[in-house]
Amino acid sequence: MPPLPHILRACAAKTFLIATGLTAWARQRRIGEATILTFHGVREDDAALTSLEWYLHPPASVFREVCSMLSRKFRVIPLSEVIKAQQHGSRLPENAVVLTFDDGFASNFHVAFPILKQHQLPATLFVVTGFLDGEDMLWFQRVDAAMGRTRKASLDWTINGARLHLQFANPKQRMRSHGALMPELKKLSHHALLQEIARLEEALEVLPLGKDDLPPEMRPMDWNMVRSMVASGLIEIGGHTHTHPILARCDARTMREEIYTCRNRIADELGQAPLSFAYPNGRPGDFKAETVACVREAGFKVACTTLQARVDAHASLLQLPRLDAPLSVAETEVVASGILDIFKRRMNERGSTTT
Ligand SMILES: [Zn+2]
Repeated sequence: MPPLPHILRACAAKTFLIATGLTAWARQRRIGEATILTFHGVREDDAALTSLEWYLHPPASVFREVCSMLSRKFRVIPLSEVIKAQQHGSRLPENAVVLTFDDGFASNFHVAFPILKQHQLPATLFVVTGFLDGEDMLWFQRVDAAMGRTRKASLDWTINGARLHLQFANPKQRMRSHGALMPELKKLSHHALLQEIARLEEALEVLPLGKDDLPPEMRPMDWNMVRSMVASGLIEIGGHTHTHPILARCDARTMREEIYTCRNRIADELGQAPLSFAYPNGRPGDFKAETVACVREAGFKVACTTLQARVDAHASLLQLPRLDAPLSVAETEVVASGILDIFKRRMNERGSTTT
């Protein structure tokens, strides 16, 4: 029998949880927990799916439904309210959800922002300042694009002692090759990672990636877009480094430069230093105690990880957990309600009393 969380993620199970009122019951418990959701971009419904990473960019029609449901059933609060509650030792508002978007994709402005505005939902955008400056494309976009643009059908590649047979003839093969290569790339020091990607582009005989080579939604926002969103009062801007390295793979000097350059570029462009930060990749091992200390020293009051959990009273402000944005409106309702945590806790309790 598959584990309970997998069963609960099945479509029929989500519908069952909503229809029986279990998600509504979970939402109404007065426990002062919040769900922070991690989005990246939102794609136009008719976008040509050329990127391997479209799964991080839900279609606009789904995002519209998600926002409509959240505005009816939850209390969407800005991240700054979480800072205030934690600093004052007060409870988080009941039934709270925080929306965050990582990286700084143009679709945040063109597609997501009009929908957020329609529902008056606040959000925090964590931006990669070098990407917005147009200096460089994100390193993972280069990997994705190299696999999509190469004329080669396959490539034998050795990395970290692993011998990979990468194939690119169709989207399925590219997805599989991407899935095999990315975890290996993420183990490298940041310096070695950049060298490896340059080597890969050369072996695949593709030119360096430019802004115009990307689908429109995956190009960076510009600073005027950012300023107009901030002026609406709905959008907060946070830092996400200058070039998106995994900070634990950087030497101390590079780590510091990435955090401080990001903070200073945002302060220069917006006239105010950012208070919030998100660690690139953000999983355990992607940031260290030194990273957290540097983020604090740079003046950030809150920092988000991608550790998959809800925020409770014990959460550390500089290591807040988040949940990956679900792919459907029903899944969003189930995940944000906290019902899965209740089931998991009950199962753990039962497990510990029966062994
Ligand atoms: Zn990111």
